[in-house]
Amino acid sequence: MYIIMLGGPGSGKGSVGGRISEDFNLPHIATGDIFRAELKNETDLGKKIKKYMDNGLLVPDEVVIEIVENRLSQKDTENGAILDGFPRTKDQAIALDKFLSERGKKVDAAIELDVSDEDIVKRIIKRIVCSNKDCGESFNTEFKPPKVEGICDKCGSKLIKRADDNEETVMQRLKVYHETSKELLEYYKQTGALFTIHPNIYSKTVLEDNVSEAKEYLKNK
Ligand code: AMP
Repeated sequence: MYIIMLGGPGSGKGSVGGRISEDFNLPHIATGDIFRAELKNETDLGKKIKKYMDNGLLVPDEVVIEIVENRLSQKDTENGAILDGFPRTKDQAIALDKFLSERGKKVDAAIELDVSDEDIVKRIIKRIVCSNKDCGESFNTEFKPPKVEGICDKCGSKLIKRADDNEETVMQRLKVYHETSKELLEYYKQTGALFTIHPNIYSKTVLEDNVSEAKEYLKNK
């Protein structure tokens, strides 16, 4: 099953996608994580995309599409994958459909987490994430604090703040999200794959609630 996670920055798509990936035993492919690793390792690709990421702008379609197609050509994705943060534009969605249909596959579900801008800003400026890229667990100093300050509950690595999780960049990322998401959501509505969840970010069980709702929907897919 190929599942796409849609939603603004900090909407929880990474956390929900991570849980679905574990429960369905499918690889979790997050383009943002791939790009952050490239930046950290100062690769040629990392140097090329730095200016976009630092400014909350989208990396050009052709760069992202190539990365995702290479990843989806690996054996572990044969039975499906959770795509988190991709596609972000209609052209990326069309390229993905073409890539999958050439292999007799399709996007089975596009799960949208619909969170208001106000809640996103509140959530994101207090977000801290695990520095271990194989873990990537996300915490929030107000809504979901780690048991030990600065340390990941899941793997014990140091928690860090993402460079682009500041108010200015978040506003830019939200602007970009609204500019591009409308036609993307419309696209998946038309293919019949879209399923929207309205998370209550103030609930302590928000992650569990979202995961249950998504899994209930996926059961019938
Ligand atoms: P994320 O971790 O998904 O919030 O992504 C962080 C940043 O990576 C974004 O602000 C973009 O600069 C870049 N990025 C990630 N995925 C994509 C994508 N599908 N298309 C274009 N840029 C992306």
